[in-house]
Amino acid sequence: MPLPKNPYPDLSDAQVREQLQWLETMMTRSKVATWKLHRPSMKMFINSALAELLGQSWQREQSYPFELLVEAMHAECRHSAMAVMQQLWAGDLEHADVIFRVTAAHGQARTIRDTVSVISHDRQGQAEWLTGVWIDMTDTVMAHHRLERIASTVPGVIYQFSMYPDGRMCFPYASAGIKAIYGVDADVVSTDGSAVFDAIHPADRERVRSSIQQSAESLQPWFCEYRIVRGEQTRWVAGNAMPELDAEGVYHWFGQIVDTTLDKQRELELEESRITLKRAQEIAELGYWKANFATGELYWSDKIYDIFGLDKDTVKPSISLFQQAVHPDDLALVLASEQQAKKFGTHDVVHRIIRPDGSVRWVHELADYNQYIHEDILIGTVRDITEQKIYEQELERLSITDELTGVYNRRYFMQQLEQLVVRFTPSTQAVVAIFDIDYFKQINDNYGHAEGDAVLRRLAQFMQQQLRPGDIFARTGGEEFGLLLHRTNAADAKRRLNAIRILVNELEFVPSTGTEQPYRVSATIGLTNVHVDDDKDSVLYRADHALYFGKNKGRNCVIWADDEADADVV
Ligand code: GH3
Ligand code: MG
Ligand code: MG
Repeated sequence: MPLPKNPYPDLSDAQVREQLQWLETMMTRSKVATWKLHRPSMKMFINSALAELLGQSWQREQSYPFELLVEAMHAECRHSAMAVMQQLWAGDLEHADVIFRVTAAHGQARTIRDTVSVISHDRQGQAEWLTGVWIDMTDTVMAHHRLERIASTVPGVIYQFSMYPDGRMCFPYASAGIKAIYGVDADVVSTDGSAVFDAIHPADRERVRSSIQQSAESLQPWFCEYRIVRGEQTRWVAGNAMPELDAEGVYHWFGQIVDTTLDKQRELELEESRITLKRAQEIAELGYWKANFATGELYWSDKIYDIFGLDKDTVKPSISLFQQAVHPDDLALVLASEQQAKKFGTHDVVHRIIRPDGSVRWVHELADYNQYIHEDILIGTVRDITEQKIYEQELERLSITDELTGVYNRRYFMQQLEQLVVRFTPSTQAVVAIFDIDYFKQINDNYGHAEGDAVLRRLAQFMQQQLRPGDIFARTGGEEFGLLLHRTNAADAKRRLNAIRILVNELEFVPSTGTEQPYRVSATIGLTNVHVDDDKDSVLYRADHALYFGKNKGRNCVIWADDEADADVV
């Protein structure tokens, strides 16, 4: 084999030969494929490993045409590979790595990195001898390709991040997703990771750094959520990675970063609506609950504990605890509404609860079954409406009360009379009476209107004291009152009312002016018992006529009349 000029002048030719022998043996054994080319003659010498790879028979000292190598290259690589070769031949380059694909002897495609060096130059400075060492990169390229394929199916970027003791940081590997997330190229950050840190939102940068530091110190998984600023856009990302410390004191993290902007937006929106809902509930004094009828579990928002007068820290709500708090008289109503909700979807009920201190509160429950959640889960709100209820009751009371005397008014009397006649059966007994003060006008005339008012008030109070349970007494006109006596027959009623008439007549009134003599008042009472075919007008008509009859008879008397003709003076 012709040798290039000895490049090691301090070694004898024999020593060089020995070194070469040693090198060749090593290469043959390790199956490293090599070639050398005598550029002026274009004669190429290859070792047995390369001959085997190219499917050529091999003999020491046999030369091969360089075309053999060029032809083995795949067409699409040939042009760029030869361009590098030309530069080497021209003496413009001393070393180069040429990467190309070849079809090996057994038909398998291999990816080769040919590390080419110029060994000697001619006088013109052009390459004379060149040598190349083939490194089979097929498996590495395949592994990389495989990794890239897998990485492309994984959201975000998968990467290796390394941190050196001197503080240098880089991403030796980052999948293509790094461009989409950070707007940087994987090649750029493979040696200097600062572009990635520059993309982090300034407000989050320090937090990210310290979380990495913490993960390094503890060798615990790194997890961090932070923002990335890209132009006008801010994106949220979440990263997690496993740290490793190598023998040189370099930390490596292997992990993934994903864009969580949408999740984060939803989370923030959810949080916002949760706060809004909470505030709305606070403003509306609204409690929120969720009952699971399959398990008996019950969730209460803080407001409900307040409404029920229970302590959040010591009480665990459950459906049975709730039922215990419901006023016993209202429990059936509540349960019925729950059953109703199962059929129609909505639970809407007003009921009372009893707090541990015994106080009673009114609440309004409004809930829905949501078929998308679970058929046994009822979600609803509860509002304390006690004040509203008290106000309503007060309005209701005022609407049926006579302002001057405080007894029921005409409206209430008419309602009760209507109910009485509507529900009246042959076995029912009831009496309706009209009580009219005699010569009341004279009291006004003699002592003034205020005195007349005082008389009305006193008489109303006095009458109220004469009532029995179930009796209804109301001021139906100026100085006229109505009486409704349940479960009473005419004879008993006449006796009772006559006794009252006498008592009224015995009352002594002292004029407020104080100068005049005390005086007395009397009343005439007309009464009738209620008939099965009565309506309220027919009842009042008879009672009125009886009263009229009494007035005509001379007043201060009780008249019973089923009809005028039968009017009976007591
Ligand atoms: P009779 O025996 O026929 O019933 O005579 P009377 O004077 O009681 O009846 P009349 O219907 O002639 O007069 C009723 C009077 O009652 C007239 C009215 O000024 C007076 N009056 C009605 N409402 C009030 C009131 O709220 N306060 C006062 N002080 N007087 C009233
Ligand atoms: Mg009168
Ligand atoms: Mg009158």
